[in-house]
Amino acid sequence: MISQTRDIVQKSLDALLEDESFLPEVKGETRKKAFTSLTSILSTPNHVHKSYLRIPLEDEKVVRIPAFRVQHNNALGPYKGGIRFHETVNEEEVVNLASLMTLKNALHDVPFGGGKGGIILNPREYTEKELHLIARKYVQYFSDVLGPDKDIPAPDMGSGEREMDWMMAEYKSIRPGMPYRGSFTGKSVVNGGSLGRREATGKGVFFTFRYLVHDFLREQKSLLTKTDNVFAKTALDFEDRPLTISVQGFGNVGSVAALEAHQSTHLQNKVVAVSDRNVTLFNSDGLDIPTLVEFTMKNKGDLPTKDDQLKEIGVKAEIRGREEVLYLDVDVLMLAALEDQVHKDNVEKVKARIIVEGANAPVTTEADKYLSDQGVIIIPDILANAGGVIVSYFEWLQGRETQFYTEEEVFNLLYDKMKTTMDTVLPLFFGDPFPLRQNCYIHSVMKLSTVLYRQGKLY
Ligand code: NAD
Repeated sequence: MISQTRDIVQKSLDALLEDESFLPEVKGETRKKAFTSLTSILSTPNHVHKSYLRIPLEDEKVVRIPAFRVQHNNALGPYKGGIRFHETVNEEEVVNLASLMTLKNALHDVPFGGGKGGIILNPREYTEKELHLIARKYVQYFSDVLGPDKDIPAPDMGSGEREMDWMMAEYKSIRPGMPYRGSFTGKSVVNGGSLGRREATGKGVFFTFRYLVHDFLREQKSLLTKTDNVFAKTALDFEDRPLTISVQGFGNVGSVAALEAHQSTHLQNKVVAVSDRNVTLFNSDGLDIPTLVEFTMKNKGDLPTKDDQLKEIGVKAEIRGREEVLYLDVDVLMLAALEDQVHKDNVEKVKARIIVEGANAPVTTEADKYLSDQGVIIIPDILANAGGVIVSYFEWLQGRETQFYTEEEVFNLLYDKMKTTMDTVLPLFFGDPFPLRQNCYIHSVMKLSTVLYRQGKLY
């Protein structure tokens, strides 16, 4: 996964080095040198901070829990990225996720750099009191490098608004009298969080798909029919017909994306399958998503796993193995669970013609190549799942202005921002043979390169 990000960044830099219409004032040896600098800057993080949080547990044992804060690049603004609470967290993963944040923010013109944090633990194994202490210690250990104008964490897998509220409160105690609202995003609304933050990523995931196969397709049909680009043919096949969708992962991102699809008035789509860590639920006539969302809210986030439970809530569905969601004969597959879900050993079984990456890096490099060669459109993570960081930016702004937006205003601003990005990358995508991921990376790398050049950093 790490090499995937680096490889695509490098490919983008190679293409831009050759394209002398990009930064035309930088020529010859100076140009080569500048691009060598760009490779080294973008392929390595500025800082990797690591600490062992010393935590007295309720049973009197004292443990040391490894924790990271990686600051990849801040050319565009303060570092920004979530803190993952998960037992599989490792330094390499956090570095890669931080670099994806740099690219994501550059792509969507969000004035932040890229950062990411991680704590190696399974939060389900700790009491609330212990988690509170872990969150506070994280801030104590990293407080020198965090702050509203330095590095602004947010929730990630295993953390949520509760942890962000605790962390912001600790930051406020450590830095009395200093601005603190913008030190963390993803807080509860009562603590200065933004309306709509929870739904933002899932809504953005569905929006990118809808925009591509509905709005863009209608407005730019002549562009698509003129080109013999293989992806244009795939997109045209989605025009004005009933579509079937399956969604892997039914958490924050997946359940909202599924609900958006279910409620969409723009498209004639049916969500025929959803899945989570236990099961896939399938109904070829479409699933009752609102009732399933209600069930998960009452059952610690899990979907029904037994026929009795489905009967009780009146949902008609077949219960299948959790991987089956990936292989169904559907038009669209939304991946909103984990990394590396579609890989070289299972990619041939995937039948969807459009894949939307709600999770970060759910398709491996080999699988990505295989699918792209078949004309499958993959809406990549840095494009599709940026809703969370975009609304985090609105939260940070609202904290500065102490002026809060309505939910409707938040979603309108979110869609405007994502639409602007889609309108920039889609015409390029349908005009050349590169997959959409490569187009998005080129756009991000162009932005970062120009900024770094103008800042005099390319020596
Ligand atoms: P979440 O914890 O709320 O939900 C994860 C879902 O995936 C759950 O339904 C869980 O049961 C399911 N799952 C876990 N293991 C699985 C497996 N092996 N097979 C199938 N399903 C499995 O997490 P989330 O916030 O919805 O995030 C999902 C992904 O999206 C993560 O990779 C996260 O990094 C990424 N992401 C989230 C946000 C955000 O704002 N929440 C933003 C950008 C990216």
